[in-house]
Amino acid sequence: MRVHLDHNATTPLSVSARAALLEALDRLQGNPSSIHAEGRTARALLDDARERLAAALGVHEDDLVFTSGGTEANNLALSGVLGAAGQGAALVTTPVEHSAVLEPARRLATEGHPLRLVAVDAAGRPDLGEVVAAAAGAALVSVMAANNELGTTVDVAALGAALAERYGRQRPRLHTDAVQALGKVPLRLEGVDLASLSGHKVGAPVGVGVLVRRRGTALRPLVLGGGQEGGLRPGTENVAGAVALAVAVEEAVAGRAAFAERARRHVDNLWTSVQKAVPDVRLLGPPLEDPERLPNTLNLRLPREDGRTLVTRLDLAGLAVSAGSACASGSLEPSHVLLALGLSAEEARAGLRLSTGRATSDGEIAHAVEILSRTLGKAP
Ligand code: PLP
Repeated sequence: MRVHLDHNATTPLSVSARAALLEALDRLQGNPSSIHAEGRTARALLDDARERLAAALGVHEDDLVFTSGGTEANNLALSGVLGAAGQGAALVTTPVEHSAVLEPARRLATEGHPLRLVAVDAAGRPDLGEVVAAAAGAALVSVMAANNELGTTVDVAALGAALAERYGRQRPRLHTDAVQALGKVPLRLEGVDLASLSGHKVGAPVGVGVLVRRRGTALRPLVLGGGQEGGLRPGTENVAGAVALAVAVEEAVAGRAAFAERARRHVDNLWTSVQKAVPDVRLLGPPLEDPERLPNTLNLRLPREDGRTLVTRLDLAGLAVSAGSACASGSLEPSHVLLALGLSAEEARAGLRLSTGRATSDGEIAHAVEILSRTLGKAP
């Protein structure tokens, strides 16, 4: 039996999202922009998906812009707000954001949009007071709701309230990359202008996501074309993907509390077994009892280990995990997130990330524990 403990990278397609996807693909014959019966059927499917998704997220259906995933949603939020605000509009963010925020931020900086990075603490969390202070005169603040590597969460609704209190009508817009938060922690979007979500992290297929964008938040589209998605994301809509996304998000939201409870137990088991095998292992990110963390994510620093080698050994033993570092062109780059915590490049290469999923069973965890106990702390 193989065990997949890399759900922060991607999740398996859920049974109901798959059924909804296949049914929609079978029914779809028309383009939702066409006025004939086939077109109207496609439009009805898309409208229904939008309504269900909006209800599950607690937002207005006109606040949803379907995208190809989290990366595009992040790019649209950053380039869209700064592009609409004009030359010189500044961005405030943190050094532990996903590259789908940091890379557009860096490019925008070269195009005349000053970039202010607010440092994070040892758990990977920015001080909200410092974010608010850094936001003076900025057009956009982007802070992730949950970190994909460390599992650190941030109360973005509290940040929104603090920005409104300090700057009133002059407040900058607030964007959050909520890709990893959805379905794992309660997602509070009051006071948040833009939020990025990705289907394949919650049981929908790869290639569909959404940018929640409050009406009235000016955005310049990334791509130009027809009028789909209010002209903000032109291109014939991925109707079947949107249908599957709506079903997966409904499921993720409804099942969140039960998943969190199970995931916490699983992560506790994994952590206890790793500590037994490697007594000097270190937990990175917030302590497991910190309520401000993802319940399913365990990031470890294993002394004397190279993350990538370890991932390969665990893979051969039947356990799929991640090195907690980005693999670029075959060379293991130390994770920018771990470097931002103050770890050296060598320390940052010794990381291992385990992340459980909604379908992870007690039996799989028991098997993973057995593989970890057997593999960790032993020379290859
Ligand atoms: N943001 C975060 C925090 C992520 O973990 C990911 C996925 O790796 C993304 C954005 C990108 O999402 P997608 O794969 O849908 O483009």
